[in-house]
Amino acid sequence: MEILACPIDKHHPLELYVFEEKDEVIEGLIVCPQCLRWYPIRDEIPEMLPDELRKEAEDLPFLRKWQDRIPERILYEGNPFRLKR
Ligand SMILES: [Zn+2]
Repeated sequence: MEILACPIDKHHPLELYVFEEKDEVIEGLIVCPQCLRWYPIRDEIPEMLPDELRKEAEDLPFLRKWQDRIPERILYEGNPFRLKR
């Protein structure tokens, strides 16, 4: 985690939220506290994509799936997609 930086503003360190874990993090969230961008970890793969390569139809369901475990600040103010209050 120490070597990961936000692909948008290069900020680090990033915050890690783990939802499912075995030897590796299977599902989780990487959050940039500076620009409030969030990046999903799916099937052990951190998807650190710039905004233009992200698909709302794939990413919003991930946010909904784990919304009980994600801080409100990220759910409702996160980038590039967020839930409606
Ligand atoms: Zn950032």
